[in-house]
Amino acid sequence: MKRKVLLIYTGGTIGMEKDYETGSLRAFDFGNIFQKLPEMRLIECEVSVHPFKKPLDSSDMGPQEWKLIANYIGKNYDNYDGFLILHGTDTMSYTASALSFMLKNLKKPVVLTGSQLPIGDLRTDAKENLLTSLYYASLYENDEAVIQEVTVYFEYKLLRGNRTLKYSAEYFDAYQTPNYPVLGQSGVHLNIEKDFLWRSKSDHGFKVDDHISRDVLFWRIFPGMHVEHLLEMPKMKVLILQVFGSGTIFNSLQTKQILQKLRDRGTEIVVVSQCVSGGVSFGKYSNSNIFTQIDAISGHDMTAESSITKAMHLLDNPKYKGTFAELFAKNICGEITVG
Ligand code: ASP
Repeated sequence: MKRKVLLIYTGGTIGMEKDYETGSLRAFDFGNIFQKLPEMRLIECEVSVHPFKKPLDSSDMGPQEWKLIANYIGKNYDNYDGFLILHGTDTMSYTASALSFMLKNLKKPVVLTGSQLPIGDLRTDAKENLLTSLYYASLYENDEAVIQEVTVYFEYKLLRGNRTLKYSAEYFDAYQTPNYPVLGQSGVHLNIEKDFLWRSKSDHGFKVDDHISRDVLFWRIFPGMHVEHLLEMPKMKVLILQVFGSGTIFNSLQTKQILQKLRDRGTEIVVVSQCVSGGVSFGKYSNSNIFTQIDAISGHDMTAESSITKAMHLLDNPKYKGTFAELFAKNICGEITVG
């Protein structure tokens, strides 16, 4: 049976071609993708292409586009077996994380991919990324989708979307999930690590919850920083503090008083690590005690992208019951290692 895949093209390098006369890059008409990439017809699936009206550099993508994509998938969920999103690489991890929270009880594959070189470039990585992503987006076994979560496929690796980070602006191998194993690898065979795949435990059916609040701020601390500057910032509902190592910060009374003041103003403080591998562990060093004292929330081993989009999704979300701290601590869709 031929599986049906909906390909949503949002923009980014992958949709560009080089004008060999001028040497500059231009977006090409994605409606013509089958002419550009006739190999696509050889894959055992039926592809429908839905391009954004105006292709975007992914630095121009945000909540509005995340909602658009989530709702478009929602509208077409029953008519397709899988979804492939072509996206600029710069903010792909944010979109993948946001979508993972918005698409509830997913039972079908959602794969995001992009490329470092334009599809029309001789040495492009776009072809492999796109073609193999199509395979993964249409992979079924016994009439059940093998992938039932939001993933990123890039340079031979299938990764959990909300665990990814873009770590290279240079190499084809641009994404990593330092705190989660690779879900699949493309070599001679397309391999899948079934034990690591996400399965929703909910009995409810698929639905979209596109709630996003923007009252979230992210701040990286650094040696010598004026902690009092934190009080000069506009009142925000959530402050994500990216702190040192396994969750340490300046062990001074002033730091504690300032963070307590923020808490008294009603700001939730989430703590994540500046290390991309490993995570926050309150109590390991005395320099993390302040966080326990002010009832800060541990982001454990979450990526910055995931902690930001998770906070945006949970904050003031009428569909969730419980305090922000309780909700944030939970593992919603494989984004955090807890318990
Ligand atoms: N600036 C581009 C983007 O993120 C980079 C890329 O696609 O690789 O849209």
